[in-house]
Amino acid sequence: MLPYATLQEAQAAVGGRALTAAEALWFRYTGAVPDSWLYYLNVVFLFVIFNVAPLPSLVLDLLARSPFPSLRRFKLQPSSFTSPSSVLRCYKTVMLTFLFVVVPLQLSSYPVVKFIGIRTSLPLPSVWEILVQLLVYFMIEDYGNYWIHRWLHSEWGYNNIHYMHHEFVAPTSLAAPYAHWLEILLLGLPSFVGPVLVPGHMVTLWLWIALRQIEAIETHSGYEFPWAPTKLIPFYGGSEYHDYHHFVGGKSQSNFASVFTYCDYIYGTDKGYRYKKRVEGDRKEQ
Ligand SMILES: [Zn+2]
Ligand SMILES: [Zn+2]
Repeated sequence: MLPYATLQEAQAAVGGRALTAAEALWFRYTGAVPDSWLYYLNVVFLFVIFNVAPLPSLVLDLLARSPFPSLRRFKLQPSSFTSPSSVLRCYKTVMLTFLFVVVPLQLSSYPVVKFIGIRTSLPLPSVWEILVQLLVYFMIEDYGNYWIHRWLHSEWGYNNIHYMHHEFVAPTSLAAPYAHWLEILLLGLPSFVGPVLVPGHMVTLWLWIALRQIEAIETHSGYEFPWAPTKLIPFYGGSEYHDYHHFVGGKSQSNFASVFTYCDYIYGTDKGYRYKKRVEGDRKEQ
């Protein structure tokens, strides 16, 4: 809840200048809302993301399957289509995990958010502040996820926890959050490390949680487009990178990182993938 009762008090909080359009909206719509409720909005955002973000690639699958087979040239495993019953089973599991794991995690983590000092006050962060913090959050989480994911490929970790996420040898967008409840909790931990180390504004936290899930869904889409804007991001893994990890399966000791490629490069766990890309490149040249 913002500690300003009037617009004048809000303007005084930003140094006496007029509020920007975004700040005026923030003051108007969140001024009287408790901070905890602003954080709990993540539950609504995640529900919408889990239900909407997978739709484009599911529709692409329907189109590529029969009326437009030419779309298969963008499909990473062109002959593998997830059956409608598998998609439905996946959706049901994702929603149950959302209800019984993600929602309680979000609701119970507010004291942490309050403790680390995520602010809701004015002024709003600048675009640059948001971008730099998001980059830091992505880098830190990527490093943590790399090692947890690598441990999940140990014999015990795979047989007891990670086997579930690898049920989809050809990933489909809904398979991104399809995992054992313990894996959701474990891989959720590094998501908090960035905001703990570099706490920012609630808006940045909303964007961070939303973008991370959208990125995971895109990475599991099963499609790779040459014009994807994410190709402009240096060291970005993307769907082809993670598809290789699923394709190789449980015995995979390659491409553990969730977002970027730098961890696999540094620790030498991308050799199989790089060999495959080299062979594909040689074939194209012949
Ligand atoms: Zn894995
Ligand atoms: Zn995956």
